[in-house]
Amino acid sequence: MKIITQQLAYPDWDERHTCDSCRYLGTITDSQAEEDWMKDHPFDLFFCGGKHWTLIARFGEAGDYFSGASFANPKNWDGKPRLILYEAAKLAIEMKLLTQAQLDAA
Ligand SMILES: [Zn+2]
Repeated sequence: MKIITQQLAYPDWDERHTCDSCRYLGTITDSQAEEDWMKDHPFDLFFCGGKHWTLIARFGEAGDYFSGASFANPKNWDGKPRLILYEAAKLAIEMKLLTQAQLDAA
């Protein structure tokens, strides 16, 4: 089960790994995330636009994050799925920030 809210879990890190091209997508928790520590752990999701677009999932008090367009594309998963980034990609597509074709090409 996935729960998405519109409240940053790590507001102190609003400026970390964000820029004028970054858009906040929402904050997700997933009780069925792929690794135990990730289950029910909040992730703040961002889309960074521009020529080299990427997706960011911030998850720690110290500003830790996952990022990378290619990790959001299931065809690139090699035993290390990043479902959280895939969820970010789906939100970005819903919000018309990203197209399915861009994701497929990542
Ligand atoms: Zn950015």
